[in-house]
Amino acid sequence: MFGAKGIKIPAMDIVHLNGQLLAADKAKISVFDRGFLFGDSIYEVIPFYQGKGFRLIEHIQRLEHSLRAIQIRTDIDWQLLLDNLVTANGGGNLSVYLQVSRGASEERSHQYDADLTPTVFACCKPIKDIYADGADSVEGIAAIVTADLRWRRCDIKATGLLPNILVLQQARQAGAAEAILIRDGILTEGASSNLFMVENGVIYTPKSSSEILGGVTRELLLQLADEQGIPCLQVDIEYSRLLTADEVWISSSTRAIVPVLSIDGQKIADGNKGRLWQQMFERFIQLQHRMMHG
Ligand code: PLP
Repeated sequence: MFGAKGIKIPAMDIVHLNGQLLAADKAKISVFDRGFLFGDSIYEVIPFYQGKGFRLIEHIQRLEHSLRAIQIRTDIDWQLLLDNLVTANGGGNLSVYLQVSRGASEERSHQYDADLTPTVFACCKPIKDIYADGADSVEGIAAIVTADLRWRRCDIKATGLLPNILVLQQARQAGAAEAILIRDGILTEGASSNLFMVENGVIYTPKSSSEILGGVTRELLLQLADEQGIPCLQVDIEYSRLLTADEVWISSSTRAIVPVLSIDGQKIADGNKGRLWQQMFERFIQLQHRMMHG
């Protein structure tokens, strides 16, 4: 891909801004953009494998849910926008970040005019095809459990991620890769993932509510468990129960399902990847394969 003076632009540098595809360093937004000033914006992260969006419809539906919830109206064809961006970046295995803010006003004010034009930004970055390398290549992680200090509308994928960022840093400082959040004694989800545990062959996950994000991967796991006749229950999970589980997993679009092998320094079961995790991961591989080739 070549820029104005015939200079080669690295493929990943093509971004979408307000209806245009352009080099990342040419994309500019107003300092009065409400996304910048107030975090008055929402986002999505969507994996593409070999140029095809994985669970694209579900991601677009969640994007529309977030937009409706904060009353931003647009008639954008999201699928077209995303496909054009991915093509401009050479296809392949990419994760697309898409952000919609309420737009820029003329001055900083908490109140907004309903007729603002939303700012739409999207960019890509290369990702590993998690499924291609198989279950053996997936490494389990350590996690910590810490207080869930977020607001109570976590079903909206809002860009105000300060609590998530701080707990993730706390996890890293403890040598862990994810922070699992707890509110009023009940586990909610990870800083950027949903939570699952296994007890005597039954899968458990926190109930769907506005206290957690309706994860696209979470929904898919519920569906795959159902198809295989594995019971999967949505319940309140307490800390002590998690520590004595047979398996703990987290799920997200760019990481699929990841086994959690220790929590707060305590091993989960024998500290190895579990049997049900492996079974579910293999189901994922089959599904992804069907999507890419079928
Ligand atoms: N929960 C939170 C707070 C997240 O940020 C994410 C993903 O980023 C998830 C759950 C998993 O959602 P999905 O499977 O749709 O990626």
